[in-house]
Amino acid sequence: MTVRTRFAPSPTGSLHIGGVRTSLYCFALSRKHGGKFIVRIEDTDQKRFVPGSIEEIMYALNKYSLEADEGPETQGGFGPYIQSERLDLYRKYVEELVAKGGAYYCFLTAEEEEQLRASYRADKAAFRSPYRNATPEETAAKLAAGEKYVIRQKIPENETIEFVDGVQGHMKFSSNEVDEGVLLKSDGFPTYHLAMLVDDHLMEISHVFRDATWIPSIPKHVLLYRTMGWEIPPMFHLSAILDPAGGKLSKRRGAVAAMEFLRLGYLPEAVLNFLMLLGWSSPLPHEFGESQREIFSLQEFIELFDTKDLNKSNPIFDRTKLLWFNQKYINALSVDEFTAKFKDWAQTAVETADQEFKVDEEGDEDAAVKAEQYDVNAARIALLRELLADSDLATKLNLVQTRVKILSEIPDSLAFFYSAPQNVDWGIKQLEKVPADKLPELKAEITVFMVSLGADASAWKHEDWEAGIRAIADKHEIKHGDAFMILRMAVVGSPFSPPLFESLQILGLNEILIRLT
Ligand code: GLU
Repeated sequence: MTVRTRFAPSPTGSLHIGGVRTSLYCFALSRKHGGKFIVRIEDTDQKRFVPGSIEEIMYALNKYSLEADEGPETQGGFGPYIQSERLDLYRKYVEELVAKGGAYYCFLTAEEEEQLRASYRADKAAFRSPYRNATPEETAAKLAAGEKYVIRQKIPENETIEFVDGVQGHMKFSSNEVDEGVLLKSDGFPTYHLAMLVDDHLMEISHVFRDATWIPSIPKHVLLYRTMGWEIPPMFHLSAILDPAGGKLSKRRGAVAAMEFLRLGYLPEAVLNFLMLLGWSSPLPHEFGESQREIFSLQEFIELFDTKDLNKSNPIFDRTKLLWFNQKYINALSVDEFTAKFKDWAQTAVETADQEFKVDEEGDEDAAVKAEQYDVNAARIALLRELLADSDLATKLNLVQTRVKILSEIPDSLAFFYSAPQNVDWGIKQLEKVPADKLPELKAEITVFMVSLGADASAWKHEDWEAGIRAIADKHEIKHGDAFMILRMAVVGSPFSPPLFESLQILGLNEILIRLT
């Protein structure tokens, strides 16, 4: 059997990070077995369609290196891969379901249906339509009279439906609790259940991975497969990714869209590694007392991935842990790779900035707010442009690589190389032991000392520089660290900086003197 997995997003907006995890598992299983990873766009609910989202979903998957073997952008032999382009396929199968007793024509008007639903709700019973018992003649007569209809799934009474899910294990459902939902709408569009059934079958999907939110649909799907006489593929209903504060992952507490993480400066490979472990445990043995290995490349994951290692318990989306992964991945890069990735990120930020922050001047009430945002953003973009134009960027990036957790921290931490700090706050607690009236004298002595090192900064020796600053501190009976801090504040404008000596060498004597005086 060829392994064929599918990710089946509905194009209702940006790709959610949970969708990247589903795709990752689909991708890994298909790659491991030399199969195919398919992306199928489920756009049968046209009311929820958001223009541009198909493109965005595909773009994001590619950015995460989860390229589809077949999908809207790559035709295989099973297309089209967008459900609204396959509409003519579904009718034949829904008619077969009707013929086999698994579905029926239903002629309820919207008001009749609403009334019925209300009464079923009051009885806490699952919805049934009276047309489930219509004779073929009655149905034929209504069809001949041109009455509007939907085709509904027929659910048997008093049946226990059992299913073994690859993640959730053995499950039991009572048919009496399952609604008779619509399969084909009055406009001829299939609903999710029908389209999924037909497409998974025609596309020869061998394994289904999807969100745990679809668990209530399992009995419907079991019955549909049974009626058609098709074998139901192994299904894996993936654990729900939880917000640390409880509940579903929330937009209000941080990024949730796949592309947002990349815009913030996470490396896709770090995010993938983090996602691998949200629902899967590595089978690698580890010594008692040792912690489980956590770093896996996509290739290693593909080799190790087995559905038996999927976890049922709901994982927590720990953003601190994600930062930890990102830092690990940044650290492991060579300087050249790091520079290339940073430039790529900065370039994308510059290119998208103009569109995203355009001020709407035509009577927009929020124009002032937007203008302010635009200014903040404009300053940021100007800095990014400076970084991108810097032929010596790698040397500077090298200074911060081991400290950076996320690419977006970099511009601010390197800004002092491009312009002198403004409005330096000397009242910081790191300098509270140094009397303010002593500062000018200390700065003057440091200035004289820096001049004594010579105009060629590349020839400066770290030991000489360090000894000189220490001597100034000793002479004035302040801590060595305080003397270095004075120099740092004057040159960088912040108590935090990349390694100071190397930064000074890059700035050069001239610039240091300007900033000290
Ligand atoms: N279109 C469904 C969704 O967006 C896919 C469910 C499935 O994978 O079967 O969640």
